[in-house]
Amino acid sequence: MEREQRDEVRRRKIIHIDMDCFYAAIEQRDNPAIRGQPVAVGGAGRRGVLCTASYEAREFGCRSAMPGFKALELCPQLIIVPVRFEVYRSVASQIRAIFGRFTEQIEPLSLDEAYLDVSHWETSPGAIAREVRMQIFEETGLTASAGIGPNKLLAKIASDWRKPNGQYEVTPEGVAEFMHDMPVAKLWGVGKKMQEKLHALGIYTCADMQKWDKFVLAQRFGKWGAELYDVCRGVDHREVSSSRTRKSISKETTFSENVSRVQDLLPEMAEMVEEVKKSVEKKYSDRGVKSMVIKLKFDDFSQTTIERVATAPDFKLGKELLIEGWKRGGQKSVRLLGVGVKLADEGDDSQMELGV
Ligand SMILES: [Mg+2]
Repeated sequence: MEREQRDEVRRRKIIHIDMDCFYAAIEQRDNPAIRGQPVAVGGAGRRGVLCTASYEAREFGCRSAMPGFKALELCPQLIIVPVRFEVYRSVASQIRAIFGRFTEQIEPLSLDEAYLDVSHWETSPGAIAREVRMQIFEETGLTASAGIGPNKLLAKIASDWRKPNGQYEVTPEGVAEFMHDMPVAKLWGVGKKMQEKLHALGIYTCADMQKWDKFVLAQRFGKWGAELYDVCRGVDHREVSSSRTRKSISKETTFSENVSRVQDLLPEMAEMVEEVKKSVEKKYSDRGVKSMVIKLKFDDFSQTTIERVATAPDFKLGKELLIEGWKRGGQKSVRLLGVGVKLADEGDDSQMELGV
């Protein structure tokens, strides 16, 4: 079984396409007056936050998620233009149509990023990536970067290597070398806090992490620790899951201590609803939602799921479902809360009601 799995992974050819400064690049494309200038897309004024900054603006240190006023301090001549999501969405669907000429296995991560599984082609994945990028440029006037690798993890890291308008390929033979000096900060899921913990253990690069035993990593960092053991070796078995086949999106939280009062679950639930909402908007805006689901696991390990028709994840509805489920479960302490939505099928009637 393990042998088979390894061979399967070896055969996989994954491309991660990432558009260069997508929103800002579209604004510069559509308005010649701001080409070559530091441009950011986002809300202006003190309360606004930048979504994307052009490369000219990045040279001044302007970054996405930065408040507008801070960006203007760094770069007083910065031109902040309002977001035009309808335009970005329509360019994104143009780009998806191009992807569709090469594969059906497309997993969008956001409007400007996607994984393509091109394992079925004899052609080298690098050549396919070059062709995809060329067609994108010819048809939209925008540049994209690509990472190519035997799995999603490697392809995603590699797409950053030759940005902008470039591509980098990690071959199955080159994985060990590629990962060796990689800072752990580059790994998916390793945020600031995790980085600090790892640095405290003397783990700075993947080579440092590779010296650690799987069991010890799992003990220190839980399930994620066991995954890190694979991740730092460039091993990743996740499949490219196309949005067409995806049925639902959900988030789960297991509490370190069981929660006995249902109202104490609400702040956590509010955050989870927002996360699910963001995920739907980013990846599945073309699909729409058909129902909302709340899942509860209790201190005696029994569980219950409550589902109701909905067109979007919503806190108020979530609260109703939560209370209903909690009562149904006998008002016991809660150890796990799940918030999710079921996605509408393509061509579903509920989609027409949504007008998408
Ligand atoms: Mg991008």
